Amino acid sequence: MTEILAAHDVAVEFTHDGQTLQAVRGIDLTLDEGETLALVGESGSGKSTLALALLGVHQLARGKVTFRGDELASVEPHIFRKHVQPVLQDPYASLDPRWRVARSIAEPLHALKFGNIEARVASLLDAVGLAAEFASYLPNALSGGQRQRVALARALAPEPSVLIADEPLSALDMSVQAQILTLLADLQRTSRIALLLIAHDLTLVQRVAQRVAVLYLGRVVEQGPAARTLAAPLHPYTAALIAATP
Ligand code: ADP
Ligand code: MG
Repeated sequence: MTEILAAHDVAVEFTHDGQTLQAVRGIDLTLDEGETLALVGESGSGKSTLALALLGVHQLARGKVTFRGDELASVEPHIFRKHVQPVLQDPYASLDPRWRVARSIAEPLHALKFGNIEARVASLLDAVGLAAEFASYLPNALSGGQRQRVALARALAPEPSVLIADEPLSALDMSVQAQILTLLADLQRTSRIALLLIAHDLTLVQRVAQRVAVLYLGRVVEQGPAARTLAAPLHPYTAALIAATP
Protein backbone atom coordinates (compact mmCIF):
# COMPACT_ATOMS: atom_id res chain seq x y z
CA MET A 1 0.00 0.00 0.00
CA THR A 2 1.32 3.43 -0.91
CA GLU A 3 0.72 6.13 1.64
CA ILE A 4 -0.71 9.34 0.19
CA LEU A 5 -1.71 11.56 3.12
CA ALA A 6 -0.60 11.19 6.71
CA ALA A 7 -0.67 12.87 10.09
CA HIS A 8 2.34 12.34 12.34
CA ASP A 9 1.84 13.16 16.03
CA VAL A 10 -0.45 16.04 15.07
CA ALA A 11 -1.90 18.42 17.64
CA VAL A 12 -4.11 21.46 16.99
CA GLU A 13 -4.84 24.00 19.71
CA PHE A 14 -7.38 26.78 19.98
CA THR A 15 -7.12 29.62 22.45
CA HIS A 16 -10.21 31.23 23.98
CA ASP A 17 -9.98 33.95 26.65
CA GLY A 18 -6.44 32.89 27.51
CA GLN A 19 -7.49 29.21 27.83
CA THR A 20 -5.88 26.70 25.49
CA LEU A 21 -7.94 23.81 24.17
CA GLN A 22 -6.19 20.90 22.49
CA ALA A 23 -8.85 19.97 19.95
CA VAL A 24 -6.78 17.02 18.67
CA ARG A 25 -3.48 15.60 19.90
CA GLY A 26 -1.10 12.75 19.28
CA ILE A 27 -2.76 11.94 15.96
CA ASP A 28 -1.00 9.32 13.84
CA LEU A 29 -3.10 8.48 10.83
CA THR A 30 -2.27 7.38 7.31
CA LEU A 31 -4.44 7.26 4.24
CA ASP A 32 -3.26 4.90 1.53
CA GLU A 33 -3.82 5.33 -2.21
CA GLY A 34 -7.23 4.14 -3.27
CA GLU A 35 -8.58 3.17 0.14
CA THR A 36 -11.60 4.31 2.12
CA LEU A 37 -10.82 5.18 5.71
CA ALA A 38 -13.74 6.10 7.93
CA LEU A 39 -13.07 8.55 10.74
CA VAL A 40 -15.83 8.33 13.32
CA GLY A 41 -16.50 9.92 16.67
CA GLU A 42 -19.10 11.95 18.50
CA SER A 43 -19.72 15.62 17.92
CA GLY A 44 -16.86 17.70 19.33
CA SER A 45 -14.34 14.84 19.22
CA GLY A 46 -12.15 16.78 16.76
CA LYS A 47 -13.08 15.24 13.39
CA SER A 48 -13.43 18.52 11.49
CA THR A 49 -10.34 19.95 13.16
CA LEU A 50 -8.34 16.95 11.99
CA ALA A 51 -9.87 17.19 8.49
CA LEU A 52 -8.82 20.84 8.29
CA ALA A 53 -5.34 19.98 9.58
CA LEU A 54 -5.01 17.39 6.81
CA LEU A 55 -6.16 20.02 4.31
CA GLY A 56 -3.39 22.30 5.52
CA VAL A 57 -5.83 24.86 6.92
CA HIS A 58 -4.89 24.70 10.60
CA GLN A 59 -1.53 25.61 11.97
CA LEU A 60 -0.23 22.64 13.92
CA ALA A 61 0.80 23.00 17.57
CA ARG A 62 2.82 19.80 17.13
CA GLY A 63 3.65 17.21 14.52
CA LYS A 64 3.34 17.32 10.77
CA VAL A 65 1.10 16.42 7.85
CA THR A 66 2.67 14.80 4.81
CA PHE A 67 1.44 14.39 1.24
CA ARG A 68 3.22 11.56 -0.61
CA GLY A 69 5.83 11.67 2.15
CA ASP A 70 6.57 15.40 1.86
CA GLU A 71 5.68 17.85 4.61
CA LEU A 72 2.88 20.16 3.43
CA ALA A 73 5.03 23.28 3.60
CA SER A 74 7.27 21.84 0.90
CA VAL A 75 4.44 20.73 -1.44
CA GLU A 76 3.52 23.12 -4.28
CA PRO A 77 0.19 24.66 -3.18
CA HIS A 78 -1.45 24.17 -6.60
CA ILE A 79 -0.43 20.50 -6.66
CA PHE A 80 -1.86 19.96 -3.19
CA ARG A 81 -5.10 21.82 -4.05
CA LYS A 82 -5.59 19.74 -7.18
CA HIS A 83 -4.95 16.42 -5.44
CA VAL A 84 -6.65 16.84 -2.07
CA GLN A 85 -10.26 17.93 -2.38
CA PRO A 86 -12.72 18.66 0.42
CA VAL A 87 -16.39 17.67 0.38
CA LEU A 88 -18.36 19.40 3.11
CA GLN A 89 -21.47 18.61 5.10
CA ASP A 90 -23.40 21.47 3.59
CA PRO A 91 -22.97 21.40 -0.20
CA TYR A 92 -24.19 25.02 -0.29
CA ALA A 93 -20.91 25.94 1.37
CA SER A 94 -18.91 24.75 -1.63
CA LEU A 95 -21.21 26.16 -4.33
CA ASP A 96 -21.56 29.79 -5.27
CA PRO A 97 -25.33 30.50 -5.16
CA ARG A 98 -24.97 32.82 -8.19
CA TRP A 99 -23.30 30.25 -10.39
CA ARG A 100 -25.04 27.70 -12.55
CA VAL A 101 -24.04 24.10 -12.05
CA ALA A 102 -21.84 23.96 -15.16
CA ARG A 103 -19.85 26.97 -14.02
CA SER A 104 -19.35 25.61 -10.49
CA ILE A 105 -18.02 22.34 -11.88
CA ALA A 106 -15.90 24.01 -14.56
CA GLU A 107 -14.31 26.61 -12.32
CA PRO A 108 -11.51 24.41 -10.91
CA LEU A 109 -10.78 23.19 -14.45
CA HIS A 110 -9.79 26.56 -15.92
CA ALA A 111 -6.69 26.89 -13.77
CA LEU A 112 -5.68 23.34 -14.69
CA LYS A 113 -5.93 23.92 -18.43
CA PHE A 114 -8.15 20.94 -19.13
CA GLY A 115 -8.85 20.68 -22.85
CA ASN A 116 -12.54 20.39 -23.58
CA ILE A 117 -14.15 21.78 -20.44
CA GLU A 118 -17.72 21.41 -21.68
CA ALA A 119 -17.24 17.70 -22.38
CA ARG A 120 -15.55 17.24 -19.00
CA VAL A 121 -18.49 18.92 -17.21
CA ALA A 122 -20.93 16.66 -19.08
CA SER A 123 -19.02 13.52 -18.12
CA LEU A 124 -18.77 14.65 -14.48
CA LEU A 125 -22.53 15.27 -14.33
CA ASP A 126 -23.03 11.79 -15.73
CA ALA A 127 -20.58 10.30 -13.21
CA VAL A 128 -22.54 11.72 -10.28
CA GLY A 129 -25.87 10.61 -11.71
CA LEU A 130 -27.26 13.96 -12.81
CA ALA A 131 -28.99 14.53 -16.15
CA ALA A 132 -27.30 16.94 -18.59
CA GLU A 133 -30.08 19.52 -18.19
CA PHE A 134 -28.94 20.26 -14.62
CA ALA A 135 -25.91 22.06 -16.07
CA SER A 136 -28.00 25.22 -16.35
CA TYR A 137 -29.57 25.07 -12.86
CA LEU A 138 -28.73 27.37 -9.97
CA PRO A 139 -27.97 25.61 -6.65
CA ASN A 140 -31.22 26.82 -5.05
CA ALA A 141 -33.23 24.96 -7.69
CA LEU A 142 -31.70 21.63 -6.62
CA SER A 143 -32.63 19.26 -3.81
CA GLY A 144 -30.09 18.62 -1.04
CA GLY A 145 -29.02 15.34 -2.61
CA GLN A 146 -28.64 16.89 -6.07
CA ARG A 147 -26.62 19.72 -4.58
CA GLN A 148 -24.30 17.23 -2.88
CA ARG A 149 -23.91 15.47 -6.25
CA VAL A 150 -22.87 18.77 -7.84
CA ALA A 151 -20.43 19.44 -4.99
CA LEU A 152 -18.98 15.96 -5.59
CA ALA A 153 -18.66 16.59 -9.33
CA ARG A 154 -16.85 19.81 -8.53
CA ALA A 155 -14.51 18.03 -6.11
CA LEU A 156 -13.80 15.32 -8.70
CA ALA A 157 -13.25 17.80 -11.54
CA PRO A 158 -9.48 18.27 -11.08
CA GLU A 159 -8.95 14.47 -10.90
CA PRO A 160 -7.83 14.49 -7.27
CA SER A 161 -6.05 11.63 -5.51
CA VAL A 162 -7.80 12.22 -2.18
CA LEU A 163 -11.29 13.28 -1.11
CA ILE A 164 -11.76 14.44 2.46
CA ALA A 165 -15.49 14.22 3.04
CA ASP A 166 -16.54 15.80 6.35
CA GLU A 167 -19.98 14.41 7.20
CA PRO A 168 -21.12 14.61 3.57
CA LEU A 169 -24.37 12.83 4.43
CA SER A 170 -25.44 14.60 7.60
CA ALA A 171 -27.44 17.36 5.94
CA LEU A 172 -29.39 14.91 3.77
CA ASP A 173 -32.62 12.94 4.24
CA MET A 174 -32.13 9.32 5.28
CA SER A 175 -33.13 7.88 1.89
CA VAL A 176 -30.80 10.26 0.06
CA GLN A 177 -27.93 9.47 2.47
CA ALA A 178 -27.79 5.89 1.23
CA GLN A 179 -27.78 7.05 -2.42
CA ILE A 180 -24.94 9.51 -1.90
CA LEU A 181 -22.96 6.97 0.12
CA THR A 182 -23.32 4.40 -2.66
CA LEU A 183 -22.26 7.01 -5.18
CA LEU A 184 -19.19 7.94 -3.11
CA ALA A 185 -18.23 4.28 -2.76
CA ASP A 186 -18.70 3.64 -6.49
CA LEU A 187 -16.66 6.71 -7.45
CA GLN A 188 -13.94 5.72 -5.03
CA ARG A 189 -13.76 2.23 -6.52
CA THR A 190 -13.80 3.25 -10.17
CA SER A 191 -11.43 6.21 -9.85
CA ARG A 192 -9.14 4.70 -7.19
CA ILE A 193 -9.38 7.91 -5.18
CA ALA A 194 -8.43 7.67 -1.52
CA LEU A 195 -11.45 8.65 0.57
CA LEU A 196 -11.38 9.90 4.13
CA LEU A 197 -15.02 9.59 5.11
CA ILE A 198 -15.88 11.44 8.30
CA ALA A 199 -19.06 10.58 10.16
CA HIS A 200 -20.41 10.84 13.69
CA ASP A 201 -21.92 7.36 13.62
CA LEU A 202 -21.05 3.98 12.25
CA THR A 203 -24.30 3.01 10.58
CA LEU A 204 -23.50 4.21 7.10
CA VAL A 205 -19.73 4.11 6.94
CA GLN A 206 -19.42 0.46 7.91
CA ARG A 207 -20.83 -0.46 4.50
CA VAL A 208 -18.01 1.16 2.53
CA ALA A 209 -14.90 1.60 4.67
CA GLN A 210 -11.93 -0.74 4.52
CA ARG A 211 -10.47 0.77 7.66
CA VAL A 212 -11.94 2.67 10.58
CA ALA A 213 -10.31 5.16 12.95
CA VAL A 214 -12.16 6.19 16.08
CA LEU A 215 -11.66 9.66 17.50
CA TYR A 216 -12.56 10.34 21.12
CA LEU A 217 -11.81 13.56 23.03
CA GLY A 218 -9.30 14.61 20.38
CA ARG A 219 -7.38 11.34 20.22
CA VAL A 220 -7.46 8.34 17.92
CA VAL A 221 -8.33 5.65 20.44
CA GLU A 222 -8.50 2.83 17.93
CA GLN A 223 -7.88 2.14 14.26
CA GLY A 224 -7.87 -1.01 12.21
CA PRO A 225 -9.54 -2.99 9.45
CA ALA A 226 -13.27 -2.16 9.45
CA ALA A 227 -14.53 -5.73 9.85
CA ARG A 228 -12.16 -6.56 12.73
CA THR A 229 -12.66 -3.24 14.50
CA LEU A 230 -16.43 -3.51 14.37
CA ALA A 231 -16.56 -7.19 15.32
CA ALA A 232 -14.01 -6.99 18.12
CA PRO A 233 -13.38 -3.41 19.27
CA LEU A 234 -10.33 -2.91 21.44
CA HIS A 235 -11.42 0.33 23.11
CA PRO A 236 -14.48 0.72 25.37
CA TYR A 237 -15.52 3.88 23.51
CA THR A 238 -15.62 1.99 20.20
CA ALA A 239 -17.70 -0.71 21.87
CA ALA A 240 -20.11 1.95 23.14
CA LEU A 241 -20.30 3.50 19.68
CA ILE A 242 -21.11 0.11 18.14
CA ALA A 243 -23.70 -0.62 20.85
CA ALA A 244 -25.38 2.70 20.06
CA THR A 245 -25.54 1.86 16.35
CA PRO A 246 -28.90 0.52 15.22
P1 ADP B 1 -16.26 17.45 15.41
O1 ADP B 1 -16.06 17.78 13.98
O2 ADP B 1 -15.85 16.07 15.78
O3 ADP B 1 -17.66 17.73 15.87
P2 ADP B 1 -14.56 19.75 15.89
O4 ADP B 1 -13.27 19.41 15.29
O5 ADP B 1 -15.47 20.65 15.15
O6 ADP B 1 -15.33 18.39 16.30
O7 ADP B 1 -14.31 20.40 17.31
C1 ADP B 1 -13.41 19.85 18.26
C2 ADP B 1 -13.24 20.85 19.40
O8 ADP B 1 -12.52 21.99 18.94
C3 ADP B 1 -14.55 21.39 19.95
O9 ADP B 1 -14.41 21.57 21.33
C4 ADP B 1 -14.71 22.71 19.23
O10 ADP B 1 -15.46 23.62 19.99
C5 ADP B 1 -13.28 23.18 19.10
N1 ADP B 1 -13.06 24.01 17.91
C6 ADP B 1 -13.18 23.58 16.63
N2 ADP B 1 -12.87 24.57 15.75
C7 ADP B 1 -12.56 25.65 16.51
C8 ADP B 1 -12.13 27.00 16.20
N3 ADP B 1 -11.98 27.40 14.94
N4 ADP B 1 -11.91 27.83 17.24
C9 ADP B 1 -12.04 27.41 18.51
N5 ADP B 1 -12.42 26.18 18.87
C10 ADP B 1 -12.68 25.29 17.89
MG1 MG C 1 -17.38 18.32 12.48
